[in-house]
Amino acid sequence: MQRIPVVGGNWKMHLTRQEARQLTAAIRAALVDLVGVEVILFPPSPWLADVHDALEGSTIQVGAQNVYWEPQGAFTGEVAAPMLRGTVDHVLVGHSERRIVFGESVWETADKMRAVCDAGLTPLLAVGEPMADLRAGRTNDTLRRQLVEGTRGIAAMPPGLIVAYEPVWAIGTGEPATPAAAQERCAFIRSVIADRYGDEAAEAVRIQYGGSVNAQNVASFIDQPDIDGALVGGASLDAEAFAAICRAAR
Ligand code: PEP
Repeated sequence: MQRIPVVGGNWKMHLTRQEARQLTAAIRAALVDLVGVEVILFPPSPWLADVHDALEGSTIQVGAQNVYWEPQGAFTGEVAAPMLRGTVDHVLVGHSERRIVFGESVWETADKMRAVCDAGLTPLLAVGEPMADLRAGRTNDTLRRQLVEGTRGIAAMPPGLIVAYEPVWAIGTGEPATPAAAQERCAFIRSVIADRYGDEAAEAVRIQYGGSVNAQNVASFIDQPDIDGALVGGASLDAEAFAAICRAAR
C-alpha cells in the first residue's frame, strides 16, 4: 500500500496572533506547488480560527494540540472536541509534554482519543519512551502500553489515524534518534497496530518520527520503510525550514 507522507508542525505555546498569521501565510506561499505530501499545522488554540481562515482554499490542514474529553460542561479553560469541528481536521493526543509536564495518564489519553473520534475528527496519537525506559530496555513495553491503553475502548482503528513516534529524549534536544533506531521502533508500532486492529489497519496507519527533525536530517527518516512522515516542533516555527522538511518528505 502506498501511504501518503504526512508532516505536522507543532507550534506549541509560541507566537503572537500576528506572528501566527504571518507564519501561516509564509508556509502557504512556500508550499503552494507541493503535491504528494499532507501538511498539518498545529497552532496554539487561540489562533486556530485565524490559521484555518488563512488556509482557506489551500490543501494545508489544521490540527489542535490538545482537547478535553467531555463534550461540554463546567470545565473552565478547557476546549471540547465538538467545538473544534469545522476549524480543525486533526487533534494531537498524548504529546509527551502533555504526559510529562501536565501529568496526563494513559487513561486520560484514551478518553481524549475517544472524544476526538466521537467528534468525527482524526487523532494524531503521539507515543515515545523517556530516557529511563530506553536505558532500562523498556522502550517497546512503554510503546505498547501507550498504544494499547491509549486506544482503549476504540474497537476499530480510527479512520486516518496517524501515530507519531517521539522519543522523549529527542524532543527539543537537537539529538534525534538514529534513522535505524527510529525505523525499528516504528516497525514495532506497526506490529502493535496489527495485533490490535489487524494487518490491513497496520498497512494503512501512517507513522511519523518526531524529535529534533530538521531540513538536513528529515530525508534519512522518511527513507525508512515504516516512517511515513515527521512531527516537527522547533523547526516548524521557521517557514523556510518547515517548507524544506515538507519538500524532503515527498
Ligand atoms: C515535538 O514537540 O513534537 C517535537 C518533535 O519537537 P522538536 O522537533 O523541537 O524536537
